[in-house]
Amino acid sequence: MNMEKVLSSAISRAGEITRTGEVASYIPELAKFDGGSLAVAYCDMEGNLVSAGDMEMLFSIQSISKIISLALALETLGLECVLSKVGNMPTSDPFNSIFRLELSSSHKPLNPLINAGAIAVISMLSHETPSGRFDKVIELTGKLTGRVDIDYNRNIYLSEKKSGQRNRALAFFLSSVDVLEGDPSAVLDDYFKQCSIECTTIDLAVMGATLAAGGVNPVSGEQVLSESTCAFVRSLMMICGLYEGSGDFAIRVGFPGKSGVGGGIVGAVPDKMGIATYGPSLDQFGNSVGGTAIMEDISRQMQLRVL
Ligand code: GLN
Repeated sequence: MNMEKVLSSAISRAGEITRTGEVASYIPELAKFDGGSLAVAYCDMEGNLVSAGDMEMLFSIQSISKIISLALALETLGLECVLSKVGNMPTSDPFNSIFRLELSSSHKPLNPLINAGAIAVISMLSHETPSGRFDKVIELTGKLTGRVDIDYNRNIYLSEKKSGQRNRALAFFLSSVDVLEGDPSAVLDDYFKQCSIECTTIDLAVMGATLAAGGVNPVSGEQVLSESTCAFVRSLMMICGLYEGSGDFAIRVGFPGKSGVGGGIVGAVPDKMGIATYGPSLDQFGNSVGGTAIMEDISRQMQLRVL
């Protein structure tokens, strides 16, 4: 089987359905991306990379960054501490929903992959890294992806900051009930920055492979995370990595995934490979339409289902 051909034909097949989605515009800077753009890459456990489409294009990882700050919190603070501030439950609410936070008696966000949960997790990181919280997140992103010049996009960050009233509401509410630690404005600043970190599809495939391999980056050979952190992160990706689309993704694709409104999806097939897609046209839940179609196609052809 010529794998490049398998990937490029999956991209061709996804071309039409991609056009049924829409590029995110609530963060104005994201609306500038081309809705027809598509890419896919995978990285196996030996570090072999295969890719097709716009695989070198940089885009902001958005909510994919939530698994990075979660992994950092698990490594530095431990599972018990993380679970004292966020739950491990799926949710049928949109990623930026606020209403359940007030209704629940603990006021804890349901999981670390919705905005409220991710904001709470970042605030916890100040325990260990009071000044360089974001530096630690970007450093870990570099190690997970193997990208040496990892950085965030200033224009996207400023656009997020300007349009981020909903996230502000979440952070200040969480602060009022003592779930968020420290200064909510500083926490939000780091959240906006981590969402604006830029990667290529190939970078995300390497990150997925690192999560799939129990924390060893198969390209660099470095043990970046512990096996138990990877297992927890992969489990959460499986149950809530695509918000209200998580059940559909589990049924159609069959392995853990995490999406971002920048158009990326990262997948981790335990002990087999990391796989990533890019396609900025999104469905109503904020997940890449083309990316999901490509993942489903490749999962079927390469028999990647774990379920
Ligand atoms: N920065 C985006 C937000 O806070 C991330 C959301 C996402 O990727 N689903 O709204």
